[in-house]
Amino acid sequence: MAESHDAASGAGAELLDKVTNLAKRRGFIFPSAEIYGGFRSTYDYGPLGVNMLRNVKNAWWRSMIQLRDDVVGLDAAILGPPAVWAASGHLETFTDPLVDCKKCKERWREDKIEGVCPNCGSTEFTEARAFNLMFKTQAGPVEGEGATAYLRPETAQGMFTNFANVLATTRRKPPFGIAQVGKSFRNEITPQNFVFRTREFEQMELEYFVAPGEAEAWYRYWIDTRLTWYLDLGIAPEKLRLHEHAQEDLSHYSRGTTDVEFLYPWGWDELEGIANRGDYDLTQHSNASGVRLEYFDQTSGEHYVPYVIEPAAGATRAMMAFLLAAYDEDEVGGERRTVLRLDPRLAPYQVAVLPLSKKPELEALSREVLGLLQVDFICDYDLTQSIGRRYRRQDEVGTPLCVTVDFDSLDDRAVTVRDRDTTTQERVGIDALGELVRARLRR
Ligand code: ATP
Repeated sequence: MAESHDAASGAGAELLDKVTNLAKRRGFIFPSAEIYGGFRSTYDYGPLGVNMLRNVKNAWWRSMIQLRDDVVGLDAAILGPPAVWAASGHLETFTDPLVDCKKCKERWREDKIEGVCPNCGSTEFTEARAFNLMFKTQAGPVEGEGATAYLRPETAQGMFTNFANVLATTRRKPPFGIAQVGKSFRNEITPQNFVFRTREFEQMELEYFVAPGEAEAWYRYWIDTRLTWYLDLGIAPEKLRLHEHAQEDLSHYSRGTTDVEFLYPWGWDELEGIANRGDYDLTQHSNASGVRLEYFDQTSGEHYVPYVIEPAAGATRAMMAFLLAAYDEDEVGGERRTVLRLDPRLAPYQVAVLPLSKKPELEALSREVLGLLQVDFICDYDLTQSIGRRYRRQDEVGTPLCVTVDFDSLDDRAVTVRDRDTTTQERVGIDALGELVRARLRR
C-alpha cells in the first residue's frame, strides 16, 4: 500500500472535512459523548446515520444471504473466552508494532508513520513492541483467570466455533457459507480519518466453506462478487480497485489475500479483504477443543476439513466510502447545492413528503400520502421553511424523491414528484403514486 498515506491534504482534506461536517450537521454521525468533550475517536450514529448504516447492512445481507441458497446467517456473542482467541491465534499474533516518539512521547503504529513522528517531526523512536489489539475484560463479579473475557476483534470466530452446530442443524454441505453482521472491537493504536479506523466498528463477514480442490476458484469468485457489490451500489469504477497481496506479505494462515480498495481522500486504502484461509481456522479449533470440525462426504466416503474463503467487510467503513463517493456539488437554477448521489437503497430517506403550506387541509392530505408511502418506503415528513429550502435539505442528505402536496392536490388528488438528480418534476395521481415511486427507486 505504498500509495496510501494516512492524512489527507489539499482537495482530499477538503472533501473529508465537508463530509465529516455534513455527517455531524445533518445527523448521520456524531462524536460520541460530545457533551463531555468526546471520547477517543468513538462515534454515534444519529437519526439519518442509523438509517443509512442499516441500509448498508441490509444490502449486504440481501445479496449475501437472502438472494442465495448456499449461505445462512448467524449472530454470535461479542464476549468470548480466552480459549477461542488462543486457538485462533489472536492472543499471540493479533498485534500491531507500537513505538513511542522519544521527543513528544506520542505513541504510534510503526508501520503507519514511515519513520517520522506525525506530531512533532522527530525521527527518534523507542524499539517497537508488539501491542495486542484485543479489549480484555472480565465476565462475572469474581476476578481471576477463569473470568477473563475478550470483546471479539472480528466476527469470524463465531462462524468457526459454530461450524458443527450449523452443519448439524441445516444439513448443508460444501460449498456453503455462514455470514454475520455485527460489532467488533480493536484497541487501535491510532484510530483516524473519521470512521475509517475506530476502536468500535461494525463488520460484515462471510466464511465460505469449500472442498480444498475448489478453494482457488471460489476465492476468485468472491473477489469478483464483492467488487461487483460496491459497483452495483453506485461507487464509480475509477474509485475502486483490487490489490492482491504479494506472497511474502501474507499472514501465516493465508493462501491468498486480495483487498478491495477505495480511493479515499488520502489515497487508495482498504475497504474489504478477501482471503483464502485454507483449513487453518477449523484445524486450529478442532485441535484446541477436541471437537472434530470436518465434513463427511458421503459420495467419496471421506472426511475432510473444508477450506475457508473469507470476504471481510466493514459496515461503518463502507458507509463512509459510500458517503464520500456520493458527495457532489452542482448548480440548480443559478444556485449552488450540495447533493448526495446515494443509491436509493442506501439513502437515509427514500421519499420526503412535503406539504406546500401548513394549512390544515393540506396537512391532512399530506399525512394521508405519507401513510400510504410509509408502509413500503423510508419516509421523511417536512413542513418547515420554503419548498426550495426543503428540496435543498433533502438533496443534501441524498433523498432520491420528494413528493409535494399543493393546493391543486386538494381538487385533483394529484401530487408532484421531484427527482434529486435531475430536479425534474412530474405530476401524478395519488392512486398511482406508490407504483411510480417503486418504479423510480428500482435500479
Ligand atoms: P488494518 O490492517 O487496516 O488494521 P485489517 O486488514 O486487519 O485492517 P481486517 O481484519 O481484514 O482488517 O478487517 C476486515 C474489514 O473490517 C476491513 O477491511 C475494514 O473494512 C473493517 N475494519 C477493520 N478494522 C477496522 C477499524 N478499526 N475500524 C473500522 N473498520 C475496520
